[in-house]
Amino acid sequence: MSNKMHEMKLVGTNSDGYDEWHCPICGRRLLLKSQPTLTKLVLAIGDMTAEHMGVRPGLSFTSRNALPEPTKPELPVWMEDFSERW
Ligand SMILES: [Zn+2]
Repeated sequence: MSNKMHEMKLVGTNSDGYDEWHCPICGRRLLLKSQPTLTKLVLAIGDMTAEHMGVRPGLSFTSRNALPEPTKPELPVWMEDFSERW
């Protein structure tokens, strides 16, 4: 069991309202949107053995608190990556 913890950095918010997060350590990239439902899209998987966390005003997450399953997965990588660990 690894205890690696990677802190992800908020890159910005795209035109669809997704916050884009980037891990400077392993290159993981994902999009998170909290409204109207919490949605996560993984752009680059990076190091799946590491725990990832991120904080911005109004939102914080870690790989321990699993997000609800999205209702409209848009990227195939979703199927591989969605789990309680990310
Ligand atoms: Zn990472």
